[in-house]
Amino acid sequence: MLKTKAYAVFQPKGMLFPYTFNRREPRDKDVVIHIHYCGICHSDIHTVQGDWGEPQYPLVPGHEIAGVVAQVGNKVTHFKVGEKVGVGCFVDSCRNCAPCQKGLEQYCAAGAVFTYNCTEKDGALTQGGYSDKIVINEDYVIRIPDSLPLDKAAPLLCAGITLYSPLKHWKAGPGKKVAVLGFGGLGHMGVKLARSLGAEVTVLSQSLKKEADALRMGANYFYSTADPKTFEKLFCSFDLILNTVSANIDWNKILSLLALDGTLVTLGVPKEMVPVHAFALLMGRRSLAGSLIGGIQETQEMMNYCAEKSITPEIETIPMQQVNTAYERILKSDVRYRFVIDNASLQ
Ligand code: NAP
Ligand code: ZN
Ligand code: ZN
Repeated sequence: MLKTKAYAVFQPKGMLFPYTFNRREPRDKDVVIHIHYCGICHSDIHTVQGDWGEPQYPLVPGHEIAGVVAQVGNKVTHFKVGEKVGVGCFVDSCRNCAPCQKGLEQYCAAGAVFTYNCTEKDGALTQGGYSDKIVINEDYVIRIPDSLPLDKAAPLLCAGITLYSPLKHWKAGPGKKVAVLGFGGLGHMGVKLARSLGAEVTVLSQSLKKEADALRMGANYFYSTADPKTFEKLFCSFDLILNTVSANIDWNKILSLLALDGTLVTLGVPKEMVPVHAFALLMGRRSLAGSLIGGIQETQEMMNYCAEKSITPEIETIPMQQVNTAYERILKSDVRYRFVIDNASLQ
């Protein structure tokens, strides 16, 4: 077994503390990755807080993993020791169902095996990237181009692909008006990606505090959702709204900002149900949709695209010992714009 140093949560809504556990020895098609950096996604916090149900303990969160291949199994063909690689939100899937066959493993009919708080096919509990190494089948590993530094590549594995996938699916591009609701880890990647695809981008945030940052990152417009005039001015404006808010929102009010045939895609997953009045959809033939990360092939495409266009997240790097404080700051929307853990601090 491979001795692994990590930080874990041991009880409901608990803090993270040092934890040592064993990862499996690499099988034929496995790679062992020495984790250099791991981004902190708000989904880590939802899971720890029990927003989506009681997690299994000990819980090692983290699904924005960037590192270097340290060891390969006998039958690994795509990766060599020393190469820069990443792992996102899932580490396996059934491979046979229709979504898997289409490269949409995140929608696996049997349920993708998520990177933490999930059960592997062999019954083991998955443990995430707040750790010094991970063992994973090579088919679920993403190659990180040389031009991307590992710390900045890490958040692309969740925040990056979660925005890239719906922007491509709903054809954001020249002539399309896109709004990004919530300007945090996901939101700021949404602005950079939507702008690079040629769309006109508006940020809808709780206040005007982040306006200068958003405009610098490529947003065309910035509005506060706390100002009632925003809703008068932007009524029936957008072709696509990407909701990246981690808390509940006023769904009917946000839907009123969609133009004819517009779509509100929720990416954020608040613990509350979604209350929508039918008229908010009927008026303007509007759609309400959701989107979950992206498949392996599309994640690789996004990674290569970001390398080619030099699109990277704005990060604040912290040692593992500061992870609990980082969680508190994320919950206060005080993150500019993604915390990334330097896993070397796990010594
Ligand atoms: P984050 O960095 O904390 O950003 C969330 C943003 O939402 C905040 O910066 C804030 O933006 C806004 N916000 C927070 N609380 C709010 C409130 N009470 N009312 C209104 N706005 C509020 O989080 P993240 O990592 O980007 O994740 C965002 C959400 O997406 C989470 O629910 C996460 O679980 C989910 N997620 C989904 C997927 C997927 O595949 N669909 C993937 C990753 C994450 P402003 O300050 O600009 O208002
Ligand atoms: Zn995530
Ligand atoms: Zn499947």
